[in-house]
Amino acid sequence: MKITLTYDNEVHTKGLKSDWGFSCLIEREDMPGILFDTGANGSILLHNMDKLTIDPLSIDIVVISHAHWDHIGGLSRFLEKNSEVKVYIPASCPQPLLAKEVIRVTDPVEICTGVFSTGELKGIEQSLAIKTEKDITVIAGCSHPGVENILNSASQFGKPYALIGGLHGFNQFDVIKDLDLVCPCHCTQYKPEIRSLYPEKYVSGGAGRIIEIE
Ligand SMILES: [Zn+2]
Ligand SMILES: [Zn+2]
Repeated sequence: MKITLTYDNEVHTKGLKSDWGFSCLIEREDMPGILFDTGANGSILLHNMDKLTIDPLSIDIVVISHAHWDHIGGLSRFLEKNSEVKVYIPASCPQPLLAKEVIRVTDPVEICTGVFSTGELKGIEQSLAIKTEKDITVIAGCSHPGVENILNSASQFGKPYALIGGLHGFNQFDVIKDLDLVCPCHCTQYKPEIRSLYPEKYVSGGAGRIIEIE
């Protein structure tokens, strides 16, 4: 499985743009293309996708973590390029204009084979739990429900192996001690602390960063 950060507060790959927000593309041979979140600004999202040679039409499913502008802001521009995607939103999120097929998520649900939503946690946000040979990869937008709650919910699908995404003010660092890979990006406030505590797990983010997980 290949996860490409298409939108982040920092840049990893030259030529890409950074901006406050988050988006990543999840690809695996046997799986539909999934875009998780869309950043704040559709022009920046499409610019970064273009530089990464990601064709918007190669995406089948869009999952929106939560309704905050820095995750949903790029959706309309993306839908102008590809309106045929299924859009999974947490139940509290306003109906996205232009989306033809919208699935509102309250409870945990299998989005496609081996890809699960944690369901809308704390009435605000859903995260993804993706099954691979190396157990579960968790992808989070801002982690407003709390990293511990997200990992607990993801655990119903298997043992969490990796955590990628925005962790906001998360500082209960013990909670991630059993993970093998952590890529804290976007709004994560304590990146240096996480890096120094867990250098062996730490992968830095930035737009253009590619993470491959078996
Ligand atoms: Zn947020
Ligand atoms: Zn955010």
